Amino acid sequence: MNEANKNLTKKCQYCQTDIPIKATKCPNCYGKQGNFIQKHPVLFVFLILIGIGMIGGIINSIKKANFQKDYKQLDVVTYEDVKYSITNVEKTEKDTIYSNAPSGYEYVKVTIKIENKSNKKISYNTYNYKMINADGQETSSDVYIGDDSDKQLHSGKLEPDGIVEGYIVWKQKKEDSNLRVRFYDNMFNSEYTFQWTLD
Ligand SMILES: [Zn+2]
Repeated sequence: MNEANKNLTKKCQYCQTDIPIKATKCPNCYGKQGNFIQKHPVLFVFLILIGIGMIGGIINSIKKANFQKDYKQLDVVTYEDVKYSITNVEKTEKDTIYSNAPSGYEYVKVTIKIENKSNKKISYNTYNYKMINADGQETSSDVYIGDDSDKQLHSGKLEPDGIVEGYIVWKQKKEDSNLRVRFYDNMFNSEYTFQWTLD
């Protein structure tokens, strides 16, 4: 092989045959020439995307781990660009229309305001909220039929900048001084996302 030929050829990565320098495939053994990215462009992009996804996941879990979970009743909590606040707490023994709370119990009506400051539509649901009492019992809301039932929080969606306010009722032993309202961003999680301790 002369010098001129040497600059125009390269060795196949697989069978070592001299092949044209610009060949991407060996004419002899059909082996693909080039580095990993050139040989597997789709796989390479795929791996990059997985990498980005993993970094995003790690950043998210660091954010979640550093997120403050415990608040006082008057604190406004911002979680994933959504503002949550308690605007009223009312205790009553009267289930206004039909009956009263059982002896020794009262209804705790907690009004919650949700403001969607994120740029995407979000869902809200009564089942995302639970109350834990001094006995360590954590429960979903109780049935309450009052003449202001239209002001209860239901479920729905909120557009960006949307606001909803409504109350949720729990039946608790009278004068429990350690009531906490807990928010679960996923109602099937066992760990609460954040909680307010009621005054
Ligand atoms: Zn070859």
